[in-house]
Amino acid sequence: MLTCKEQVARSSDYLDGQLSFREKLMVRHHLMFCPNCRRFIRQMRLMQATLKAMPEPPLEGVEELAERLAEQRRKDNPL
Ligand SMILES: [Zn+2]
Repeated sequence: MLTCKEQVARSSDYLDGQLSFREKLMVRHHLMFCPNCRRFIRQMRLMQATLKAMPEPPLEGVEELAERLAEQRRKDNPL
């Protein structure tokens, strides 16, 4: 059986579905017997869901804004 430390190290891969079949079984087995890790996994899953629900940073908008500012500066200080 996995130790809690080994379990925690696999948690994010487990949630991402990156574990091999054997490792997934080991994690599930540990979770069955360890309420602490069950709680930990639940919190991680919640955090992941929250992160996914957050909007992407507006990179294009930032670029456009920088361009507009540069243009403004050219107008203000014509060489
Ligand atoms: Zn545990």
